[in-house]
Amino acid sequence: SAKAAGRAGYRFAEPVPGGEAHSHVRLVHAMREALKEGHFRLHYQPQIRFRDGAVCGAEALLRWRDPQLGEIAPAAFIPVAEDSGFIVTLGNWVLSQAVRQAALWHEAGRSLTVAINVSALQFRQPDFVSQVADVLAVSGLPAHLLELELTESILVDKADEALERLQALERLGVQLSLDDFGTGYSCLGSLKRVPIGRLKIDRSFVAGLPDDDTDVGLVRAITQLAQALGKRVIAEGVENEAQRRFLAELGCDAFQGFLYAPAMDATAFDRHLPPPRPRPMPTAGGRHIRL
Ligand code: C2E
Ligand code: MG
Ligand code: MG
Ligand code: MG
Repeated sequence: SAKAAGRAGYRFAEPVPGGEAHSHVRLVHAMREALKEGHFRLHYQPQIRFRDGAVCGAEALLRWRDPQLGEIAPAAFIPVAEDSGFIVTLGNWVLSQAVRQAALWHEAGRSLTVAINVSALQFRQPDFVSQVADVLAVSGLPAHLLELELTESILVDKADEALERLQALERLGVQLSLDDFGTGYSCLGSLKRVPIGRLKIDRSFVAGLPDDDTDVGLVRAITQLAQALGKRVIAEGVENEAQRRFLAELGCDAFQGFLYAPAMDATAFDRHLPPPRPRPMPTAGGRHIRL
């Protein structure tokens, strides 16, 4: 059967007869099966606010565990999902799963933003904005608790179309950020026009802080650029206290990285958080009190 072939029919580490194209076809097939079989899950990595050290958000990251092969890294399957177009199906699944989890946290009294990674191909689908709107409507999640992490590649061609779509998303009320910032090719002119609230410094630049002069210069330039554009900055891949302190001094308002925690399943994430504060209750006068 197709399923049996999907299970047994691919190996990632070995060279495949017929070359790379053939192994990609098998990997795409395996991804389709894995989605049907429930072998994809989302893990969540905490985002920490500098101001008070609170967990202010969670980035949803795809995890694929094959019963035979074990864990398969996003770096191994996301590029193939993008090349084949399967990322659109996978991305829609991520959107609905992450929004569902975000709604659960919201109902439990957590004020957490859930961020999802949106590939350029998914972003360019004509019905992308309505998909986001529909998923939000079904879940009842307030739109501002969803963040879409986009990449600079969406701004490279058809910039006007991208801008219109970003404005439609802004009207929906979702938050927008630019992921892996500095690794792409966005021009300053388009950065000025886009309604994107924050830049996410790529971890390749964070890695060399605070000793590598090039990384120091680049991160300083990015934070100054963000300041000039009126955008917030989050750093990813923060692994130690020296990096965190340096980023804080440069004006980063949030960070994410192994210094705090890796991505984990929603249950582990819950255990990691302090107990939720009760939701504010409306009083007779329409003001809010905290219990
Ligand atoms: P990303 O969006 O830049 O996500 C951050 C990556 O850095 C994650 O890798 C995360 O586990 C890792 N990371 C976080 N903190 C640290 C740290 O302190 N040190 C180091 N060395 N790494 C850290 P992961 O989960 O393997 O994901 C890799 C990439 O795959 C993501 O990079 C993203 O581009 C893509 N990806 C993951 N999930 C999705 C998804 O649902 N949709 C799409 N389109 N892409 C996804
Ligand atoms: Mg990301
Ligand atoms: Mg990133
Ligand atoms: Mg990155």
